[in-house]
Amino acid sequence: MEDDVDAMRAVLPAPTVDSRPFWDACNADALLLQRCGHCAHLFYYARRLCPACGGTELRWEPSAGRGSVYSFSEVHVAFHGSASDGRLPYTVVLIDLDEGPRMLSRWVPGGAASPAVGQRAVVRFTSVSGQKLPFFTAERD
Ligand SMILES: [Zn+2]
Repeated sequence: MEDDVDAMRAVLPAPTVDSRPFWDACNADALLLQRCGHCAHLFYYARRLCPACGGTELRWEPSAGRGSVYSFSEVHVAFHGSASDGRLPYTVVLIDLDEGPRMLSRWVPGGAASPAVGQRAVVRFTSVSGQKLPFFTAERD
């Protein structure tokens, strides 16, 4: 079990002044996106400048945390050393949020072990060493 936590520490974020609000919101079970005050572009991940126009007037907006699976990949090789071997395989997903932005995340099995392209998904905040991470799982009806 300690190996699991050690392995997961390797993927923990290192919040910056720009991304701190996003990670703090995750700890409060909220998913935030940034919107540009100049061109209204909504985007993920946290940045200092709007990726569409370079605008600096950015504000945070809540996402409903729902979307669909754009793609996924099952990982069978430990990229973080042998401590990760016990966690294999795991599934990395690209989620198209209903609000528009595409998020890279991890799939948390809930029923079916693997997602399907186009499947509806909902965020599930998963705590690792005191930081909640925005993973995704199958949306229930
Ligand atoms: Zn912009």
